[in-house]
Amino acid sequence: MEYTDINDKKGKLESDLVILAPAMIASKDSGELAELLSIDLHETGYFQEVHQKINPVSATTDGIFIIGSARGPANIIDAMQQAKAATGKIFTQLIPGEKIIPEVMVSEILEAYCTGCQTCLQVCGYDAIYFDDERGISVVNEAVCRGCGNCVGSCPSGSIRTKHFTNPQLYQEVKEAIR
Ligand code: SF4
Ligand code: SF4
Repeated sequence: MEYTDINDKKGKLESDLVILAPAMIASKDSGELAELLSIDLHETGYFQEVHQKINPVSATTDGIFIIGSARGPANIIDAMQQAKAATGKIFTQLIPGEKIIPEVMVSEILEAYCTGCQTCLQVCGYDAIYFDDERGISVVNEAVCRGCGNCVGSCPSGSIRTKHFTNPQLYQEVKEAIR
């Protein structure tokens, strides 16, 4: 059998049976979708899970799940198991009559101090901040915010704080730790 390898090198091979196993590569558009959903991409071009073992079906933004070949080459059995895991995760949050409780450690912008410079929009890796043109201030979407604190450190006017991690609270924690 004659063949051409990935370096365009031609060769010959004696064989009784040839089985084709084409390589899988991530979709070219996955970067665009990752940007739209604010989720991370793995260096291979597939979507990145939160943790390969502890949380393999969740994307890096809450509420978005990745299964099967979205997170790498997968066979049908693996894809079905991952789909069941994702479904289980969704159902455990959808309790009839109960509201979904969002993350408590989220940031908030103190309207009176915000100068509208929009620095915080550039540092938020989760696209959790939007600019309110009418009021001329930035606003945190608490449903998307992950409480990473990037925006808090970047705000030149000190108008952002992460709930439950205010300066007096942090000061008290440090004080207790070094007592
Ligand atoms: S960085 Fe601070 S001052 Fe600038 S838009 Fe954001 S919250 Fe407002
Ligand atoms: S705490 Fe992090 S995720 Fe939340 S708005 Fe600020 S930068 Fe974005």
